[in-house]
Amino acid sequence: MNESRDANMFARDSVRRLPQYRPGAEACTIDLSDNTNLWGSPPAVLRALHDPSASASRYPAFYSEPLRASLLAYSVPGGVPPVGVVTGCGSDDILDSTLRTFGEPGDRIAYSAPTFVMIPYSARLNGLSPVEIPFALNGDIDAERLVDADAKITYLCSPNNPTGTAMSRAAAEYVVANARGIVLLDEAYAEFAPEVFVDLLARSERLIVARTFSKAFGMAGLRVGYGLGAPALVSLVERARGPYKVSSVAERCVLAALEAESVAWMREQACRAVGNRMRFAESLAALGLGALPSAANFVCVPTVRGDALCSALQVRGILVRLFKGLPQDLPDLAKSGGTALRIGIGPWEQMQTTLDALTEALA
Ligand SMILES: *Cc1c(COP(=O)(O)O)cnc(C)c1O
Repeated sequence: MNESRDANMFARDSVRRLPQYRPGAEACTIDLSDNTNLWGSPPAVLRALHDPSASASRYPAFYSEPLRASLLAYSVPGGVPPVGVVTGCGSDDILDSTLRTFGEPGDRIAYSAPTFVMIPYSARLNGLSPVEIPFALNGDIDAERLVDADAKITYLCSPNNPTGTAMSRAAAEYVVANARGIVLLDEAYAEFAPEVFVDLLARSERLIVARTFSKAFGMAGLRVGYGLGAPALVSLVERARGPYKVSSVAERCVLAALEAESVAWMREQACRAVGNRMRFAESLAALGLGALPSAANFVCVPTVRGDALCSALQVRGILVRLFKGLPQDLPDLAKSGGTALRIGIGPWEQMQTTLDALTEALA
């Protein structure tokens, strides 16, 4: 009897055909593989996490007003017209709930490829058809082709994972103004980017901006993300999401993260990450490893030697993310045959150790 085959018989088609999402999690001393904050978490968040007076026996607030107000004040400074907020178990939850809210099985979701791996994954899980649009040759999104895909949902990610590239304002505005359906803008790396597009909420009732506490805020383990959009839109997403997705511990920590002291801490580390990224990219270039222009806390390095370099780093206890078979529309990815390393940026010591390992591996 083959038990797994029997279990498979009962599963939905969309689930049966899906591989388990499993980013490599090998043992290592320096982990540059997941773009988290390598300086840690804001001290006030750690204090909130260890608050001895906290209780666990009650449900968290269904929808905490103080959290909502703090999130708005932080993410929409100056205030655009009424914006609603939906929180979730990581922004993965916001993305997935948004797909489920607006995408009927069979509907199309269009996005520039390559992008965040959870999108094709979540699309398939929700029965949607992914429509992958190549990036423009200059590295920007191809706004016209995205709109022409006439999809129910158009997903934009800027800065984009795994390329690190940012889209232009003109392209963002074009998609938001002309897409037929919902535009889902993922700004997981907003805090590192020279430009964000949350202000476009003022121009569209069909735009949802997804953000997270997992990256710049250093709180990936607490699993908190949020979506911003017209109140009516956001409340639909919340309906599909279901209640109680943010634990009371996580909620307490997010409130601490949004205090001025924590935001200042976060901005300081984000600034360091950007500075180290520039320095690291220059050193990589000197080794003959050109990185794509990045607006985030990681660099994407297309290289035909991806496999060998990734193993050489791993032997030395350094974990980076290896991508193979990426779409080859960007000239640098065409040259590397679609292979690239994605390397997170942390304290300079770690970056120097990585550079030394790469130098050795290339010698
Ligand atoms: C890391 C990441 C997320 C966020 O994940 P969480 O579920 O909030 O931890 C979302 N989008 C992109 C593009 C990311 O890289």
